[in-house]
Amino acid sequence: MSKALNFKQELTACFGQPVAENPTQVMMEAAYRHHGLDWRYLTIEVSPDNLAAAVEGAKAMGFRGFNCTIPHKVAVIQHLDGLGESASVMGAVNCVVGRGDQLIGENTDGKGFVKSLKELVDPQGARVVIFGAGGAARAIGVEVALAGASQLTIVNRSQARGEELVKLLNDRVPAQADFVLWEGTFTVPEGTDIVINATSIGLFPDVDARLDLDVDTLRSEMVVADVIPNPPRTHLVRDAEIRGCRVIDGLGMLVNQGVIGVEYWSGISPDPAVMRQALEAVFGE
Ligand code: NDP
Repeated sequence: MSKALNFKQELTACFGQPVAENPTQVMMEAAYRHHGLDWRYLTIEVSPDNLAAAVEGAKAMGFRGFNCTIPHKVAVIQHLDGLGESASVMGAVNCVVGRGDQLIGENTDGKGFVKSLKELVDPQGARVVIFGAGGAARAIGVEVALAGASQLTIVNRSQARGEELVKLLNDRVPAQADFVLWEGTFTVPEGTDIVINATSIGLFPDVDARLDLDVDTLRSEMVVADVIPNPPRTHLVRDAEIRGCRVIDGLGMLVNQGVIGVEYWSGISPDPAVMRQALEAVFGE
């Protein structure tokens, strides 16, 4: 499953060997401490062969929930009791929530992104360009459409993946989506409101990698977002700032998906500033 399981402290002894702390764990446990929750959020490796048993185990031990990372985001669905709306549309779960005696799959990646976005702009009626067509692009595309964006342009290197995402969006959410094959330098169309990098370009250690994008077509009225959490100040973030755009970095999305997870599991709305500070300490910002 994930890498990350969330459970009450008194159950910790039931598990042997949690793997090393990851940034998400540091962020979540900072929130638990700040809000006086005597909980743990651990990072645990589960092999695909053991996924069913691990989900059953989480249920048996009364876990409030857990996050799932690749490669379990799709495979976990068959072991759950139900799905939230956007997880059902995406066909991917990154957050499982114990509700009564059921485990329900949610997807907080796109919701976290939209929460960050709404701090700067209302996505209602927005025209959005998204680079990438993988899991992050899918989560963001679905959620910005559900939040009211009217036009989505998916720009991707591989045609098959890009067209698959566009079909999903046109079939399942109330927005008009189109595909642009990413070959050569991309020019952001005039009238675009929001530009999002949802590829892995710029992720550590390839910190000097840049999107093949004419950055002079970024206009000051656009909001520019990057999903890359490490390092948060990517070339795209800096290029956009220089051109006067309002920007969202990858830490914003990471913090907000964590905020939503804690809300699902505990009913408490955690302080995002505390969580961001914990992440910045990890990433040396
Ligand atoms: P996937 O592997 O599913 O998708 C990667 C995407 O990036 C694909 O569209 C791929 O294109 C594209 N891509 C990768 N390298 C290049 C390149 N050199 N040139 C052009 N396109 C490229 O990954 P995810 O969608 O799961 O994750 C993407 C990023 O999002 C990761 O860096 C991850 O860290 C980040 N992320 C951040 C989160 C946050 O909370 N901040 C949450 C989730 C993810 P193609 O289809 O052609 O291969």
